[in-house]
Amino acid sequence: MSAAVLLKDIFGFDAFRPGQQEIVEAVIAGENTLAIMPTGGGKSLCFQLPALAREGVTVVISPLIALMRDQVRALQAAGVEAGALTSGNTEEETEAVWRGLEAGTLRLLYMAPERLASGGTMQMLRRVGVTMIAVDEAHCVSQWGHDFRPDYLRIGELRRMLDVPLAAFTATADAETRAEIVQKLFDGVEPSTFLRGFDRPNIHLAFEVKDGPRAQILNFAAARKGQSGIVYCGTRAKTETLGKALNDAGHSACYYHGGMEAEDRRIVERRFQQEDGLIVCATVAFGMGIDKPDIRWVAHADLPKSIESYYQEIGRAGRDGAPAETLTLFGPDDIRYRRQQVDEGLAPPERRAADHGRLNALLGLAEALHCRRVNLLTYFGEDPQPCGNCDLCDKPADIFDGTTAVRMALSAALRTEEWFGSGHLIDILMGAKTEKIAQRGHDSLPTYGVGKEYDKRQWQAIFRQMMGRDLMRPDPERHGALRMTEGARPILRGEATIDLRRDSIKAAKGTGPKIRQMVSEEDAPLLSALKAKRRFFAEQLGGPAYIVFNDKTLIEMAEKRPMNLDEMARIGGVGAKKLESYGAPFLEVISGAVEDVHPVRRKLAMRGNGEVYDRLLAAQAELARGEDGAGKPMSMGAATLAKIATLHNPDMAGLTRLMGDKHTERFGAAFLNILTDR
Ligand code: ADP
Ligand code: ZN
Repeated sequence: MSAAVLLKDIFGFDAFRPGQQEIVEAVIAGENTLAIMPTGGGKSLCFQLPALAREGVTVVISPLIALMRDQVRALQAAGVEAGALTSGNTEEETEAVWRGLEAGTLRLLYMAPERLASGGTMQMLRRVGVTMIAVDEAHCVSQWGHDFRPDYLRIGELRRMLDVPLAAFTATADAETRAEIVQKLFDGVEPSTFLRGFDRPNIHLAFEVKDGPRAQILNFAAARKGQSGIVYCGTRAKTETLGKALNDAGHSACYYHGGMEAEDRRIVERRFQQEDGLIVCATVAFGMGIDKPDIRWVAHADLPKSIESYYQEIGRAGRDGAPAETLTLFGPDDIRYRRQQVDEGLAPPERRAADHGRLNALLGLAEALHCRRVNLLTYFGEDPQPCGNCDLCDKPADIFDGTTAVRMALSAALRTEEWFGSGHLIDILMGAKTEKIAQRGHDSLPTYGVGKEYDKRQWQAIFRQMMGRDLMRPDPERHGALRMTEGARPILRGEATIDLRRDSIKAAKGTGPKIRQMVSEEDAPLLSALKAKRRFFAEQLGGPAYIVFNDKTLIEMAEKRPMNLDEMARIGGVGAKKLESYGAPFLEVISGAVEDVHPVRRKLAMRGNGEVYDRLLAAQAELARGEDGAGKPMSMGAATLAKIATLHNPDMAGLTRLMGDKHTERFGAAFLNILTDR
């Protein structure tokens, strides 16, 4: 079967994601390959599909048992013979794998690198005719990286012994790691290398200045009730208190941090993987090993430590490609805390400077004046266009020339010899009469009281932005007193100007994140019904919901409303096997979905319009495929029909306004008949 046919038939996808096709072709052709793709880019398909296109067994080395088991289950659900040899296997599972290997029917064999330590495994792999090696999370071979797994070093030996092509995959792109992968896995011979861009266009980016952070997180979660999300917290204690607050607010939430018993952590990991709509409040310990494609949102209750961490953490959302949202909260305390962490760390000076740089990049993103994605991707070396999917594209920042304000602030710091924090400096600028000012005679400074045009809150925002843009840094040797950086000198000297944001100066209240529905209001009841059906099957399988269908597939079903198996097969994510297993029951949900809009019908009945509604519905069903029954299926949701049923002085123009040209062309005349005849 060709790659395109496998893609549609087995995986149920109509098209490759960006970058996938080139990689798939190279791997099928038997080239050694190294593919660097962002998390969620669709790496697994790039070895799973070639494994099916090629003869023999592909052995997949993967570091985490839970991920292996999920992938195997998903493959089996798609009708592929796949198995894993892991310590978590039941005896039957292991036997089934062996049978498949002996019969030559097994196509993908997953195993952890530790297995390679036994000579028996290597010999076995030779005997069963392995024709390709795929290595997931290939950066685990890097001794300097954080995920080093010594047994990954055996993979090079395995490749030499089997003498088959090797395809390595990772999301870690830095040059050092890449070089090490080439050295250790490919004996230094450069493989075909694919570096796919870092953009994750389905993830909405947003930052907010902390202003009642608990309420901000609760609001964000409330607008996304029932969707799976992660709240990253700066401390273990906060994971527990926020988890409780979310539970009290009626969410299903739990917490996770490195201080918990291993068993308790596993329970949370498992629940998160399997349950629909669970929220986990966690420290960054939660992440490695989370392979849930339908995480709909990630919030940071505290600022992450660097731009790389930020990217990795938000990247856990929306791996299935359906819309996902993020919100990162930050404030001056976060900036001070993160700076202090770097300064007080044990890293050598050059490393500390680099860490400050990575933090600066994140702060620059937090205080960005224009499109966040442009800012983020530029950092990763790309040359993007404004994205239309971040808070600053949604609503441009209100910018003002902050040069004078910044010079006043710098001057206040310099005239007090850089021994004070923002609180005292603001008191000076605003001409406050505090004891500290009187004691030190700071009321006689030329900067005393020069900043009265801004209030205290506004000055705090100016100082925060100055810290965020690295014009001032807290000095750990002076208990966090603010000191000017070299970067601020041109502004002080009047050689450069600086723009600041005004909207983060104004109270950030009342601008809660915009509520985003996954589908329109009309399709929402159907989507819930489809999800319920999915949960039913997932529970039968004892696996996570997305193994049945992922969110993106259900959304497409809810929007396109397939009427028969042919139309169902055209939905992205519905392959041959899934069509057979689930096609009919999901079709039933869709055609029976009228049940789910009963509340609308009931409301109309109370207003005496119920019968008209029923007649409209019947007319719609009759004309669903046009007069001749051969047209493209068309229908409208309950809400639109309800509006039509209650239309005053109905005419064609009114109908067109409610249902658009296309629908009016098909249903207009029939509907008008019904409406004028009541
Ligand atoms: P990662 O690169 O992080 O390993 P995965 O391989 O887990 O990502 O893929 C992420 C998600 O994208 C999965 O839900 C997968 O089904 C989906 N996916 C992969 N390729 C495609 C495609 N060509 N079209 C649509 N969805 C895809
Ligand atoms: Zn943008």
